[in-house]
Amino acid sequence: MALMTGEQYIESMRKLNLQVYMFGKKIDNVVDDPILRPSLNSVRMTYDLAQMPEYEDLMTATSSLTGEKINRFTHIHQSTQDLINKVRMQRLLGQKTAACFQRCVGMDASNAVFSTTYEIDQKYGTHYHENFKKFLTRVQRNDFTVDGAMTDPKGDRGKAPHAQDDPDLYLHVVERRPDGVVVRGAKAHQTGFINSHEVIVMPTIAMREADKDYAISFCCPTDAEGIFMIVGRQSCDTRKLEGAPMDTGNPEFGGTEALVIFDNVFIPNDQIFLNGEVEFAGMMVERFAGYHRQSYGGCKVGVGDVLIGAAALAADYNGCAKASHIKDKIIEMQHLNE
Ligand SMILES: Cc1cc2nc3c(=O)[nH]c(=O)nc-3n(C[C@H](O)[C@H](O)[C@H](O)COP(=O)(O)OP(=O)(O)OC[C@H]3O[C@@H](n4cnc5c(N)ncnc54)[C@H](O)[C@@H]3O)c2cc1C
Repeated sequence: MALMTGEQYIESMRKLNLQVYMFGKKIDNVVDDPILRPSLNSVRMTYDLAQMPEYEDLMTATSSLTGEKINRFTHIHQSTQDLINKVRMQRLLGQKTAACFQRCVGMDASNAVFSTTYEIDQKYGTHYHENFKKFLTRVQRNDFTVDGAMTDPKGDRGKAPHAQDDPDLYLHVVERRPDGVVVRGAKAHQTGFINSHEVIVMPTIAMREADKDYAISFCCPTDAEGIFMIVGRQSCDTRKLEGAPMDTGNPEFGGTEALVIFDNVFIPNDQIFLNGEVEFAGMMVERFAGYHRQSYGGCKVGVGDVLIGAAALAADYNGCAKASHIKDKIIEMQHLNE
């Protein structure tokens, strides 16, 4: 199965054993929770549009690993045209959801880790690139949504990871076994983690020798043993419980982020993409950040298109669409958006 339908995506999320907490309580069913569901609907749109012939060029690509048709969110960019199509796809999804559709961070992480693992292997003779290609092939074949986890809580911004008073403020290796490593720590503000099947974890800053245990990158399922998510509150989020569409803003779609705790999670060797090669931590961060800036150039513009349309409609409803100062402002919004 190379492409999932939106409905198959929703059902696949229902099957995961996610440990999600909100308002201090465990959420048994994240798929049907009224606060969380809009964010799932946004991700669903990345599957629904990929099924539509009119969006095939933007939403799908040919896998460089298998030659199969895949969702563009699981693709490794091969050309300038791929980068253009990526941004156009993101603008389209911003227009369709008027929200964050959450699947970009995993795509950008994949592209950063793909090339960085190649360079680490060239220098050290490690097998991280093979590990990553194996992971990505599985992601492409199953059409998984992947979270990209970079941001650590960090603590004292003036101190390196190993020098923090609390060693868990940056995610790190706490045990090394012949068959893998055990990691502990947290990743903050994780977009769409609760709507993802898998996660790619990366370091968050450049590191030196003393931070060896913190220079760790890997993949694992989002419902792996020891992973706990605490949903980030948003202003007015409880309005979604009231069932009054007038007060909920964008009732169908939304975004979500979570603080994700890794409490002694075991990572097998073949899921590791960086493990102590400290000089490559910065490369991974920079490559991810570069791709992710580009993503914002697409998704936020799509949301901007909706806001501009809403502003123009409000002017129409108020009978002032021809007022020159209102036209000026709408034109300025379009200019900034482009
Ligand atoms: C809605 C949302 C979604 C997100 N999604 C994701 C995601 O999916 N995955 C992910 O990994 N991350 C995600 N992030 C995290 C985001 O990338 C970080 O918030 C961002 O990198 C800033 O890090 P921080 O929050 O730790 O702020 P800080 O690093 O504390 O920065 C705060 C301020 O302090 C300054 N500062 C920090 N350190 C220093 C220093 N040493 N010297 C001088 N100035 C300093 C910064 O420049 C900034 O102005 C998300 C964030 C948000 C808000």
